[in-house]
Amino acid sequence: MRPRRASGCARAGWAAALLGWYGPAGAGETYTTLASLAPRWGMAVAAESQARVELRNRWTSLVFLPETRQMRLNGTLIWLNDTVRSIGGRWAINHVDRLKNLEPVLSPARHLAGLSASVVLLDPGHGGGDPGAIGREGLVEKHLTLDLARRVRAHLANAGVRTALTRDSDRTLDLEARPAMIRRVGAHAFVSLHFNSASSPAMYGVETFALPPRGYPSTAGGESAARRAERLAGHRYDEANTMLAYQIQRSLRQWLGGDHDRGVRRARFAVLRDATCPAVLVECGFLSHAPTARRLALAEYRDALAQRIAMGILEYLRAVRAAGSSARQPASKP
Ligand SMILES: [Zn+2]
Repeated sequence: MRPRRASGCARAGWAAALLGWYGPAGAGETYTTLASLAPRWGMAVAAESQARVELRNRWTSLVFLPETRQMRLNGTLIWLNDTVRSIGGRWAINHVDRLKNLEPVLSPARHLAGLSASVVLLDPGHGGGDPGAIGREGLVEKHLTLDLARRVRAHLANAGVRTALTRDSDRTLDLEARPAMIRRVGAHAFVSLHFNSASSPAMYGVETFALPPRGYPSTAGGESAARRAERLAGHRYDEANTMLAYQIQRSLRQWLGGDHDRGVRRARFAVLRDATCPAVLVECGFLSHAPTARRLALAEYRDALAQRIAMGILEYLRAVRAAGSSARQPASKP
């Protein structure tokens, strides 16, 4: 269950077409054709049709779905901030998706330099008077998130990473108090853990949220222009937020399978808005989905889930350390 989100309805506007490189396309937006980005990324256009655009090299496959906000990076679903659209007859993406959604993963050395990677703050969602979602099998979100956070902490400790929890007992903790702990413990990554619930019992899968870049909508939409325009503490880490979200989502997808991959998504959750270090929120499964709930009732499954989340965090920390030790390193395999 997610923390508060804004309501309303708005969509980023655009008008004029762009013919070439980084030209203006109305409403202050710029779009770049994927055909012109391919050589920049050391890739070739393997396919370009109404159905899909694929860029490839030896290590990486990028598949974009025209007229949608969906793309897959080596199989992991990433929700773009803007629609893949036709510009001068070629498919193009918004500059913000190039700079803040894709290049941080394609060339982490360039985008993560200067960050630190020693201390992780895990945030078990809900607690105390706020149970979160109540699921099948008698599962209560606040208990599951704490159990999972303790297990992730154990896996990170095994890898030599210092880890703190925003709460280590069943107590009520305000949303504002959670990111406030980042400074207190000197955290370099903040990971909030939650479980979903839906009215449809058929819904399942995992999703990892990062803050949308300033001016761009949440994946679910529904924010006023004023809300989208707010300057937030979390925007300082747009690129690192993307990399942290991607690595966790990738790790979970590789374990659970592609059908469980609901993607890297964007939302202005309170814990992400105010974060003073790279931060994400993971929805680790639907408690309303019977097979998921049955698995989550087993300690072995919860431990495997924790291990996959820890592996994603560790991949992110490794990328930050690599960026620090060689700021001019060529792009590594994402
Ligand atoms: Zn929740």
